[in-house]
Amino acid sequence: MINERLELVRRLQEIGYIKTDEVKKAMETVPREEFLPASNRPYAYVDQPLPIGEGQTISAPHMVAMICEILSLEEGMKVLEIGTGFGYNAAVVAEVLGPTGHVYSIERIPSLAEIAKDNLKRTGYEDKVTVILGDGTRGYKENSPFDRIYGTASAPSVPEPLKSQLKVGGRLLIPVGERTYFQDLICILRKSEDEYEKKSIGGVAFVPMIGDHGWPEK
Ligand code: SAM
Repeated sequence: MINERLELVRRLQEIGYIKTDEVKKAMETVPREEFLPASNRPYAYVDQPLPIGEGQTISAPHMVAMICEILSLEEGMKVLEIGTGFGYNAAVVAEVLGPTGHVYSIERIPSLAEIAKDNLKRTGYEDKVTVILGDGTRGYKENSPFDRIYGTASAPSVPEPLKSQLKVGGRLLIPVGERTYFQDLICILRKSEDEYEKKSIGGVAFVPMIGDHGWPEK
């Protein structure tokens, strides 16, 4: 599937989702088919979200590229992801961060967290991505502060623990809005201990972030 992967990356670059060599190389390297249920592997390089079970999805490749570019990732950074799913986005971020960086990724559904761990082990990202089972809206205080934090599920408002676990100078990216479909991707820059700058990136559609500082379970 390498040719299909390279072709998708070429198109994402042409359209403008991929802007940097680092993100291009990472998306050329990480095999998306390894982060999908077997039945969906033939569609790994179609630019769309796909079901992964438990009512959840793997994000579309253009969204993963957008997240990586907006976060402005640098080698060696410590990054927190909320919503591991099957682990694909975390692997792409880990690839951009290089050998000295690390991704902590929180997933609330046990079966998905287990599959993500297996996928990351099989593809060689086990040491670069730590998967944690829990409520990501609380953040991960044990390893805070983080250079970058991003959510791959949408919250009703920006969870306060995520803001406080960001380094000064760090960035937080999270979809905020309706429980389903209509959300705004928000980028927050921590300018000082108590000063945050908020920027709206545009409309997105993510699954809900369920937890103490997110949506209630229905
Ligand atoms: N990062 C994934 C990828 O690589 O494609 C996308 C996963 S999916 C769009 C969002 C995930 O967020 C789901 O697996 C869902 O179970 C998870 N989620 C929702 N609320 C959460 C929470 N409070 N803490 C951790 N994970 C959460």
